[in-house]
Amino acid sequence: MKIFIRVLFAYILLQPVYAFSESEGLKILVVGAGISGLGVARDLHDSGYKVTVLEARNKIGGRIDTDRSLGFPIERGANWIHSNELENNRLMSIKEELGLKTYISPLTAYDGVKLFDKSGNVINLKKEDLEKIEFRIGLAAYIASYIKPSSNLEDVIDFLKRIGLLSFAPNALLQAIHQTLELSAAEDSRNMPIGVLIEEAEYAESAGSDEEVLGGFDQITNHLSQNLDIKLNTPVTKIDYSSKKIKVFTDEQAYVADSVVVTVPLGVLQQNLIEFVPELPEKKKDAISNINLGNVNKVILRFPYKFWGDDKMFFIERENRSAFSTWFNNEVIVNEPVIYSIISGDYSRELEKKSDEYVIEEAMKPLRVVYGKDIPNPDSFLITRWGLEPYILGSYSTAGYNQDDLTLRTELANPIENKIFFAGEATSVNEYGFTHSALDTGLREAKKIKELYPLDL
Ligand SMILES: Cc1cc2nc3c(=O)[nH]c(=O)nc-3n(C[C@H](O)[C@H](O)[C@H](O)COP(=O)(O)OP(=O)(O)OC[C@H]3O[C@@H](n4cnc5c(N)ncnc54)[C@H](O)[C@@H]3O)c2cc1C
Repeated sequence: MKIFIRVLFAYILLQPVYAFSESEGLKILVVGAGISGLGVARDLHDSGYKVTVLEARNKIGGRIDTDRSLGFPIERGANWIHSNELENNRLMSIKEELGLKTYISPLTAYDGVKLFDKSGNVINLKKEDLEKIEFRIGLAAYIASYIKPSSNLEDVIDFLKRIGLLSFAPNALLQAIHQTLELSAAEDSRNMPIGVLIEEAEYAESAGSDEEVLGGFDQITNHLSQNLDIKLNTPVTKIDYSSKKIKVFTDEQAYVADSVVVTVPLGVLQQNLIEFVPELPEKKKDAISNINLGNVNKVILRFPYKFWGDDKMFFIERENRSAFSTWFNNEVIVNEPVIYSIISGDYSRELEKKSDEYVIEEAMKPLRVVYGKDIPNPDSFLITRWGLEPYILGSYSTAGYNQDDLTLRTELANPIENKIFFAGEATSVNEYGFTHSALDTGLREAKKIKELYPLDL
């Protein structure tokens, strides 16, 4: 009898504790508290639905990640609200609503940007030369996208150099143009067909400038999260949608819901960190594994004093253009002697595996060429490794040489049996990789749920 009782007790203990009973009315669960998850939850909550957000990490925001460990706000992840002139940019509306002050990025303004060659000499460019160079590359890229769609930006620039059309263009400038596109795509240009880069560049130009929220991007995510039921440190491990009610499992307990919105990053889906029962449909699995996941990281350095000028941004020509060629002067934003570099693609993937000491040493090399051997070492730093960051596992999705990207993303966004919904930057068909569009994907899924379960007025 005692044994029986013990076995029964152990059995009971091993059963998940269900957080919602089936009789409590309509329940919506959102997995992930990044901007897309917060967007779905905010919208549904404000419309009167009962929503719970399960977040794996100990903080909300996901890839919007303002760090204050150095004593001032630094963005480890996204820092710009891109496309400030885009119609219906919800982040711009929130910014206005909260009265947040912003700083306009030099990326699109090309104002206050300095260029150095490999030896550290400043390169002065005439505006008309810059325009001529950009025009020639743009035109050649456009033609190449039609006659040889498999070509990439490297091919196009090499071709123009060979036929002498870029003979007057300093190599440092060609690198800077190249790197700007690679940073925004989070991928090496050789891994992307030229047509994709043209789309990126056209989108960036058409939708206005980029704005950085002074005091931290997290003011927006904190605002979106107010009064929501968010459970932190709660990684979802399994979603069982085999019966009418969906069961969502974490290590601690299980939840029962009518609809579940999965907003976890593409990297988490690619590494199968959540088990789906039954398995996801083949087309969905195909989309998950074939959408390209980019890599971009930041190395943020605080020095004892400022040894650089007042330029907002500087490029230093390098043997390998991906290796700490692009620098941003963060002093203009945080009033501290801080600069940071963004690295992308394979170089960034490679550096994620290296020690902090190695990364800092590599970052200091171009700075010593330009500003002298005697510049001080940083007194503090932040190095991101988004590809290794638990529950993120990548920077953002990008288009590569894969199957039809548009079809894959449409498939990724498709709900399953009107029970499991998908949001998040990678599910945005045309504007993947951004914060404003990630938020839009959350609102898109909230709309579907409201249509499926209209609340009585
Ligand atoms: C270095 C860097 C710079 C960037 N710069 C910009 C920029 O300047 N402007 C811009 O617009 N965009 C930028 N981006 C992209 C932008 O940050 C993302 O597109 C956007 O924030 C993604 O939001 P999301 O809600 O889709 O995903 P996320 O923010 O990643 O949210 C997903 C959430 O799901 C959680 N999660 C994962 N697994 C589980 C699980 N099993 N259970 C529960 N929760 C889970 C994660 O912890 C995370 O909080 C940048 C990204 C990086 C990495």
